[in-house]
Amino acid sequence: MISVIVCAAGRGARAGFSRNKLLEECNGLPLLAHTLSAFSGQADEMLVTCSEEDEAAIGTIVRAFPHARTVRGGATRGESVKNALAAVRGEIVLVHDGARPFVSPKVIGDCIDSVRTFGSGVCALPATDTTVIARDGQIVSAPDREEVFTVQTPQGFYTEELRLAYERAGERVFTDESSLFAAYVRPPRLFPGDRANRKLTYPEDFRFAERVGFGVDTHAFGEGDHILLGGVKIPSERGLIAHSDGDVLAHAVTDALLSAAGLKDIGTYFPDTDPAYAGADSMQLLGTALTLAEEKGYRVKNLSVSVLAETPRLAPYIDAIRASLASALSLPPDGAAVAAGTNEKLGYVGEGKGITVYAMLLLCGK
Ligand code: MG
Repeated sequence: MISVIVCAAGRGARAGFSRNKLLEECNGLPLLAHTLSAFSGQADEMLVTCSEEDEAAIGTIVRAFPHARTVRGGATRGESVKNALAAVRGEIVLVHDGARPFVSPKVIGDCIDSVRTFGSGVCALPATDTTVIARDGQIVSAPDREEVFTVQTPQGFYTEELRLAYERAGERVFTDESSLFAAYVRPPRLFPGDRANRKLTYPEDFRFAERVGFGVDTHAFGEGDHILLGGVKIPSERGLIAHSDGDVLAHAVTDALLSAAGLKDIGTYFPDTDPAYAGADSMQLLGTALTLAEEKGYRVKNLSVSVLAETPRLAPYIDAIRASLASALSLPPDGAAVAAGTNEKLGYVGEGKGITVYAMLLLCGK
């Protein structure tokens, strides 16, 4: 029987939330629910440590998992795990940080296998950065990088041996079970983890969510000798009627961007009743919208645009429009795709009365 202790009794103060970060939602579910569902297929029982304060909220999440229950945590992580260990029924126990929701079934399986084969299994990654020992701001020594690993969770042990380690440790505090086990039982065995299994600690770690936005705009043809699409001037027998510069493509992209960022629409920020926006450079407005999205912690991942127009012929200008959009949104050259087509003479576009642009855009954490 395999048991897992999920550490959820911390405050997560470094994440800068006013409550336990494991209660924060990601992709529609609390972080802790993601962690528990990662283990639910491979663990026969899940014990979730929690503080008195969080017991009700964590209990609600835990009840959705049939083999899970809460255990009151202590003042330190070690104390919490020790409390949970007393209630563990499995012969093998895995200890896991609640704030590592991306743990894969393979890592969990490898951890269990390592315990069965070697008596312990500690998830670890080779260091990619050079690590040094420093005192008072000065390097004392630099360990050989080949020998340096960063230790994650899960960490698996035979339950009796981990209990023994905690008994022997008494009041001594360790940051994780691998160092405790090494101090009181024997050096534990490492197994390779994966980089996706990261611990969400700081506010920026929570900005992994991607958000999609969609925007549409239409402008009618009127007087003029050119149109603007994505900031690119295109000769045309007629211009587009607008309060601003009439860049229908920039408007659709701006709406997609604002929408993805969870903001209001273009008319809210740049009303066409405001004289300040008469003849406005729409690419500048797009830049302002980008700043608003960036202030919410997002950057644009990619953009896809579709233009419907009978005239003028847009093919010669597509590359320039793509480059202009990529530059405005800080995207690589292939980050902004633009397709153009006619409407087969159907409807207002087909009758040559106006141009419609559809834009879809993906934001991700910075
Ligand atoms: Mg418009």
